[in-house]
Amino acid sequence: MRRYYIAGNWKMHKTIAEASELARRLKDQLAGTRHKVMIAPPFTALATVSQVLEGSNILLGAQNMGQAEQGAHTGEISVLMLKDIGVSVVILGHSERRLIYGETNELINAKVKLALAHGLEVILCVGETLAQREAGQVDQVVVDQVERGLSGVQEIGRITIAYEPVWAIGTGKNASPADADAVHKVIRQTIARRYGQAAADALIIQYGGSVKPENAAGLMAMENVDGALVGGACLTVDSFVPIVEFDRH
Ligand code: PEP
Repeated sequence: MRRYYIAGNWKMHKTIAEASELARRLKDQLAGTRHKVMIAPPFTALATVSQVLEGSNILLGAQNMGQAEQGAHTGEISVLMLKDIGVSVVILGHSERRLIYGETNELINAKVKLALAHGLEVILCVGETLAQREAGQVDQVVVDQVERGLSGVQEIGRITIAYEPVWAIGTGKNASPADADAVHKVIRQTIARRYGQAAADALIIQYGGSVKPENAAGLMAMENVDGALVGGACLTVDSFVPIVEFDRH
């Protein structure tokens, strides 16, 4: 049976007490899941959630990371600090980081390499804006983001790619399963060209953008959709658990 990878990006939500409570309930309710699950609380709650998740199969993720190991980088969080509190996955290149905070492919690539060098897993987010989609540039934009995000990366065993069309994030409009699958296929072909077919076949490609309990199974039924990166719907047990357990409901 196919094992999927479902990740929850909590973004700038939850106090420490709220995060702790949500993590505790997820740990209980997802104890028997056969899928790979990751949650990425805000930085302030990582240490507490790390303790809550002890003994659980849920991985702890960070939503971002600084591009340097340490030093004069006011306001940044280093890979060493993340590892210190039990983080094993980092989300990089999220469209909110690209569009609101001006992160470039070059910066994201530096972070990807630093995270990998320190043994973290990476979820590299890519995706087109509505204007780029309407201009027929989807494949070109996504391939460029994948290639530049992974520039100089030799080994992609610890990389997951999340295809997140920007127009679908937090809008309630998800890409149709067929549209998502078509872009995922292009991503897989890009990886096959660079790393070979076996690596491309093994690559997990998540879809992100208004995933909810009602559309999860349809998306996950597609050949090239291997999981989901979930935003809004990961903030409650009632919506995140049915997404992770989409094949049981
Ligand atoms: C996201 O920001 O990664 C995301 C997919 O958000 P949402 O599920 O709310 O669209």
